[in-house]
Amino acid sequence: MTKKMIRVTLESPGQLRLGEAPVPAPQPGEVLIEVRRVGVCGSDPTIFRGRHPYVSYPVVMGHEFSGVVAGLGAGTSGFSIGDRVAVIPHLVCGQCPACRTETYNFCEQLRCTGAEADGAHVGFIAMPAAMVLRIPDQMSLDDAAMMEPACVGYHAAKRGEIRPDDTVLVIGAGPIGNFCMQSCRALGAKRVLIADKDGDRLSLATALGADGTINVGRETLAEGLARLVGGAHAVDVFFDCVGEKGLVLNQILELARRGTRVVVAGVLQNGCDIPHLPDFVQHELRLSGTTMYVPQDYREMAALMGRKAIRTQGMITHYFKLSDVISVFALIERGQEKFFKIMLTVNDEEQSE
Ligand SMILES: [Zn+2]
Ligand SMILES: [Zn+2]
Repeated sequence: MTKKMIRVTLESPGQLRLGEAPVPAPQPGEVLIEVRRVGVCGSDPTIFRGRHPYVSYPVVMGHEFSGVVAGLGAGTSGFSIGDRVAVIPHLVCGQCPACRTETYNFCEQLRCTGAEADGAHVGFIAMPAAMVLRIPDQMSLDDAAMMEPACVGYHAAKRGEIRPDDTVLVIGAGPIGNFCMQSCRALGAKRVLIADKDGDRLSLATALGADGTINVGRETLAEGLARLVGGAHAVDVFFDCVGEKGLVLNQILELARRGTRVVVAGVLQNGCDIPHLPDFVQHELRLSGTTMYVPQDYREMAALMGRKAIRTQGMITHYFKLSDVISVFALIERGQEKFFKIMLTVNDEEQSE
């Protein structure tokens, strides 16, 4: 008799099916995880609607997750049943030069669970032990699931090579922008500013430690920077946490003082329109991309969150059970209710935190 678990499958774009599947058996080197929390990512609606370039269907979504160790494959060591863990949602070749230096985001065979491979919208998932991280006792399972977007923001912040005297402007105050802003502070920036068109997101950023906010629905970036720091020339590092058609990057290139650093963390879509791109040559700007994170980011993030240098207070606006995930996408698509981070709970009948 095989034990059964819940599994939510995205059969085809827009078609989620609630079903059952056998609990997987962990293979050699794998850890079986009882899933407890799965965050809903900004990219999930893209997968849900079939607009994600690398996803084929059917697929099980869910890549921001945490849980409890429920079993170990043959030869897997370093974990005990019951350990609370965060998970790097990566499956890699393990052999290439990138993998040998734990730079898994550069592995040519990389597949992300929840996108190119089946993810955590399930009761149990088996993951390679190298992708599983025990969390500090004081860290909640909510925070452990938030480590994934937190590390996206942290890795982006590191790409900005923050120096102690830096003034930083982050554009886009969603989860990634708010984690990037806090990461810049944790890495030693003197002043961290953040811009968005949503006042609630900016209030959250202030509560999480931003030194100044710019509501681009009310003033331009140039006006906001003049008010806060005397002008755009005071900014040393810009972060574009919006991406899309390049509108934000174009504004940054127009504003940036010569010799500044620009990190693009938001995904740029096809058909970008960035007429100021040539400026980055003449103005000797340093333009950096960033993608996901590496295990070292996770280890540092566990310590930073553990000592509250990076916080999540106020980020989770909604909880749903995994079995109600269909109503989550209905809520997102109706677009009438504001949300920040939606958290799914799994296997959670006996406790909540
Ligand atoms: Zn994500
Ligand atoms: Zn590899």
